[in-house]
Amino acid sequence: MPEGDTIHRAARALHTALAGQRIERFESVFAHLTRVDADQPIAGRHVQRVEARGKHLLMWLDDDLVLRTHMRMHGSWHIYRPGERWQRPRHELRILIETQPYVAVAFAVPVAEFVPAGTIEHEGVVAELGPDLLSDTFDTTEACARLAARPDTAIADALLDQRALAGIGNVFKSEALFAARVSPFAPVASLAPEQLARIVTTAVRQMRANVADTAAAGRTTTNRLDPSARLWVYGRGGQPCRRCGTPIQRAKQGPDARSTYWCERCQPRPS
Ligand SMILES: [Zn+2]
Repeated sequence: MPEGDTIHRAARALHTALAGQRIERFESVFAHLTRVDADQPIAGRHVQRVEARGKHLLMWLDDDLVLRTHMRMHGSWHIYRPGERWQRPRHELRILIETQPYVAVAFAVPVAEFVPAGTIEHEGVVAELGPDLLSDTFDTTEACARLAARPDTAIADALLDQRALAGIGNVFKSEALFAARVSPFAPVASLAPEQLARIVTTAVRQMRANVADTAAAGRTTTNRLDPSARLWVYGRGGQPCRRCGTPIQRAKQGPDARSTYWCERCQPRPS
């Protein structure tokens, strides 16, 4: 699943391609989008800007309309030159936005809606998001307070709660906890404030490194160039820990049974 780093990179690419451009054509398979288009045509508007909030991608259009999309498991935005061959099949098209220089296509995106710009900051899922780890104004203290407000939740599940802090998915959840040497099963209340802060700042550092231009080669938390050594624990069940050699564990965790990877020796469970 795309995490905050992927969405921020997509938003930046879409912003570079589309900001300031006039929309020549709009197309969607979603009836709730085409209904808005029929009432208040999307073609003819300009794209003002594109930005990421946590894992949501927001495209701001003229006349205070925002297109919000969420990729979930398999969705992605692509940018093409007009006439260029697409890398995903036509039947996966959900939204198409054509400008003179570029065509932006959302493939297999399951969540999309038009929201008035005036309400997006005040109600709904975007308004409820916790501090975005990749935002320039990210507030560690606020993020830690929101985590601490979930004392009985296992830290791995709390990190995935987008209302506590926004942008972390399964990969950075496991990677940040390994780097901070904290068990994914530790209840938030069992962690000292310094530990919580270390987990959060570690996640911020790891994710920021993966939105940088140099991150194009693929996601990494180990900073190793070897493609087989890019991550500490995620996806490495049964393989030796890169620190101590103990086999990495894998389990389904939390209400959504999300995969967690950890080293039992480097990240001992709280007693
Ligand atoms: Zn280990």
